[in-house]
Amino acid sequence: QLTLARTESQSIRKKLHNETLRALTDTLTGLPNREAFDERFNLARDRFLRYKHPASLAILDIDHFKLVNDNHGHLVGDRVLQAFAATVKNMTRSTDFLARFGGEEFVLIMPETDTNSAQALLEKIRISIAEMAPKNLGTQNPITVSSGLAAFQLGEKAEQLVERADKALYRAKDAGRNQVEIAE
Ligand code: GH3
Ligand code: MG
Ligand code: MG
Repeated sequence: QLTLARTESQSIRKKLHNETLRALTDTLTGLPNREAFDERFNLARDRFLRYKHPASLAILDIDHFKLVNDNHGHLVGDRVLQAFAATVKNMTRSTDFLARFGGEEFVLIMPETDTNSAQALLEKIRISIAEMAPKNLGTQNPITVSSGLAAFQLGEKAEQLVERADKALYRAKDAGRNQVEIAE
């Protein structure tokens, strides 16, 4: 009976674990979702405030993604999102954290990474995305991405950091897209 109870509680724990994992995962890309990001972001912030090592955050947004859907349909759009997620994920470190922020927007936390290193990574990502073959994606044109990069700063609220990255992203869009902009 004890063995039975133990097996049951193990199975319940496993189910709970799987449910939690599912609740924190974006089904289309398999990346962590926004809820997962919130949790991880708080942790990264706490660590930054305590140890004061440089850390960076970037928002990546696919350029003119609406046109991909409009011109090729939602299924192709979905496939582009999957390819994008896989490509970026592949280029990041295991200590980085990539999440789907929503729609065609992604957020990348880079602990222990200063602005220069983060910029270099985002630039590499930018090039790799532009090099994804349209033939494989089912699109007419290459996909491009714009990013806004912000360094964690002491004495700044979490929302302000995200807001600075977002503003930088919009400058990248305004400046013609397919580029990385750094927040002040
Ligand atoms: P910009 O370069 O300024 O970012 O332009 P954009 O077209 O990428 O931006 P906009 O916000 O106008 O459009 C985003 C589009 O992303 C609209 C929405 O239908 C599409 N989208 C959001 N989530 C999904 C999804 O899960 N699958 C597909 N196929 N499309 C999605
Ligand atoms: Mg976009
Ligand atoms: Mg967007």
